[in-house]
Amino acid sequence: MDKKTLKDVNVKDKNVLVRVDFNVPVDDDGNVTDDTRIEAALPTIKHLKAEDAKVILMAHFGRPGGEVQEDLRLDPVAKELANILGEEVIKTDTTVGDEPQEAIAKMEAGDVLLVENTRFNAGEKSNDPEFSKQLAELADVYVNDAFGAAHRAHASTAGVAEYAPEAVAGFLMQNEIETMKPAVEKPEQPYVAIVGGAKISDKMSTVENLMGKAKTILIGGGMANTFIKAQGHEVGDSLLEEDQMDLANELVEKAKAKGVELVLPIDVVVADEFAADANNKAVDIDEIEAGWQALDIGPKTIEKFADVLADAKTVTWNGPLGVFEMDAFAKGTNEVAKVLGEIDAFTIVGGGESAAAVKKAGLEDAVTHISTGGGASLRVIEGKPLPAFDALNDK
Ligand code: ADP
Ligand code: MG
Repeated sequence: MDKKTLKDVNVKDKNVLVRVDFNVPVDDDGNVTDDTRIEAALPTIKHLKAEDAKVILMAHFGRPGGEVQEDLRLDPVAKELANILGEEVIKTDTTVGDEPQEAIAKMEAGDVLLVENTRFNAGEKSNDPEFSKQLAELADVYVNDAFGAAHRAHASTAGVAEYAPEAVAGFLMQNEIETMKPAVEKPEQPYVAIVGGAKISDKMSTVENLMGKAKTILIGGGMANTFIKAQGHEVGDSLLEEDQMDLANELVEKAKAKGVELVLPIDVVVADEFAADANNKAVDIDEIEAGWQALDIGPKTIEKFADVLADAKTVTWNGPLGVFEMDAFAKGTNEVAKVLGEIDAFTIVGGGESAAAVKKAGLEDAVTHISTGGGASLRVIEGKPLPAFDALNDK
């Protein structure tokens, strides 16, 4: 890797400011309901403790819009981290300034401190140099381990790296990049990319950027409807972004010109309402009736996708192929996840819901890599820059 990592710096007795991704779900009683993201940061935190650093953590939480919002304080996260570590985690009610400075002065080597939600500060999202400098004042060494936020150039992810004496990648960041980047930059062919999910306009550019890298692109989930309709079929009440239809047709043409195989569903599972217990049936894509909506890929499509995937050597998957949260519409996603577990290929799953779907199917060990980042993993897969990673010190 061309960036410095934790292994390249001496952290003993240093103030080490670590940007983590602790944007975890919290219930009404203030309990963290899924601590996957906290767990993912533990290798870095434990390494720093073992090396006698003073560990100063910072993270964003929710969308407070640049001001203090009481229900978005990081106290529940500090409590959960303390439970996991089995020791005290100091928490300050501000992110920068006197309170954290004084708390840090009192820390001993190996102590852990969490400063308040970075997004309580207006300068965070605007990547304000003043706020970046204030953050850097807390640090002898800055470590970025928030891969999930690495696609955003904010003060705590990118700006601070310019002012901190050292700026290096944490173990999670390093692992994500080292695993995914080579696999998609020089993919072993055939490379098959699967694109699904609901963020249609975002992922149109993904489809475009994958052409030339992947030999075959499989389109499913909510994404597919826009293509199906653009190709002249009715899609009833399906999720659709009408203003993306022209682009969908352009992408179909572009794929043809480039010799990329763009595979759309040939059948779908339709429902008479968006509900787990709705009436449902599998129909060909030219048979979607008014009042029905496509919520999963159909059995013929599953078979077709499985055929294509059987020969793949590299696979990236972003976006579930159906509304997997409802069992009746989880089959396409689950079956394709199973296929990924069976083939002899380098398989990468990125995207918040896609990762959840693979875990829900109990198949997380069957794939090569499940990324902790949605937007960030998409950027790596598309070969686009990752501002927070790029801001770190070169080796
Ligand atoms: P990811 O988080 O993996 O990047 P997205 O955020 O783009 O994926 O989309 C995930 C959501 O897409 C899931 O909640 C799923 O229910 C939804 N989805 C998948 N297929 C369909 C469909 N046919 N119609 C409506 N929503 C769908
Ligand atoms: Mg998502």
